[in-house]
Amino acid sequence: MKPRTLKFWSGSVKEHSKSAITLNSKGVLCPICSSRFSNFMNFGKPKRLNARCKNCGSLERHRLLHLFFQNELGSFTDNASNYKILHFAPEKFFYNYFSSIKGINYKPCDLTPNKYKWKGPVNVSKVDITNIPFESGYFDFILCNHVLEHVLDDALAMKELHRVLNKKGFAIIQVPIHPTLENTYEDRRITKPSERKIAFGQKDHVRWYGKDFKWRLEHVGFQVDVIDYSSQFTPEEKYKYGLLDSESIYLCKKSS
Ligand SMILES: [Zn+2]
Repeated sequence: MKPRTLKFWSGSVKEHSKSAITLNSKGVLCPICSSRFSNFMNFGKPKRLNARCKNCGSLERHRLLHLFFQNELGSFTDNASNYKILHFAPEKFFYNYFSSIKGINYKPCDLTPNKYKWKGPVNVSKVDITNIPFESGYFDFILCNHVLEHVLDDALAMKELHRVLNKKGFAIIQVPIHPTLENTYEDRRITKPSERKIAFGQKDHVRWYGKDFKWRLEHVGFQVDVIDYSSQFTPEEKYKYGLLDSESIYLCKKSS
């Protein structure tokens, strides 16, 4: 894919801080909330520079996905009539984006919906990703962003995501992938949060995915395009939007 002119440059821009813009006209622009700052906040352990939006809280991976939705998935806005979207563990900014598109049939869900304290036009439903209560082929699009690393039986979850996707639909299924692991590391004997943090990087993670993540998706029947979407952007644009070099988008379709 070749670099393209980005639509956001012509969009409306919220000016949160005049001084920031005056001090650094080459600052950053959050494509999700349209806020401008001199830079994004540093975030993570170890700290990543230029990572977190001071207004909406988005991280690099969220902004990359949002740019992908806006630039590549025209069907959301061009032909949204009764378009069915399943969204696991809904991030507020994607929830706001999807729920605002007219005519869309949007189903945000989570195993523990009560943890969502914010309100919107669509309720977050209680759904177990290993037993999705919708008929086969129901959804046109599924977003499952950083969920499977929390799920013990991720193969069953992937099978369910595959089942409820229709033949013309697609899913974006993202997980944190260890930078050097070839094969996914998991050990069900490790159950204590403190041990999981050491073994899998976070106390509520149950595995570290390796480079075989694509194969694991293919194993349940998905056809997977691993898109290095950030490479479409110039270094200046990557800084402007606060994007990582290394996070790819796993775009999944039904291969059969
Ligand atoms: Zn933002």
